[in-house]
Amino acid sequence: MAFIVVDKDKCTSCGECINVCPASVYEFDDDEKSEPVNPEECIECCSCVEVCPVGAIKVDVCE
Ligand code: SF4
Ligand code: SF4
Repeated sequence: MAFIVVDKDKCTSCGECINVCPASVYEFDDDEKSEPVNPEECIECCSCVEVCPVGAIKVDVCE
């Protein structure tokens, strides 16, 4: 399983990671920051890392 971390101080709530993820890993939390709620579903495509405009997402296999 990939290890996924979102830096919520960087996240601008754009929603791009939620839109791009083919495995529905992300949802907005109560503060409308992206939260990896289903990390076990990750297929390690690295699209979220590439699409985030502020570099807020780290996925260990995408380093
Ligand atoms: S690496 Fe791909 S499957 Fe995994 S969380 Fe990011 S967009 Fe979703
Ligand atoms: S793509 Fe980046 S800035 Fe946009 S919601 Fe996801 S983590 Fe936040």
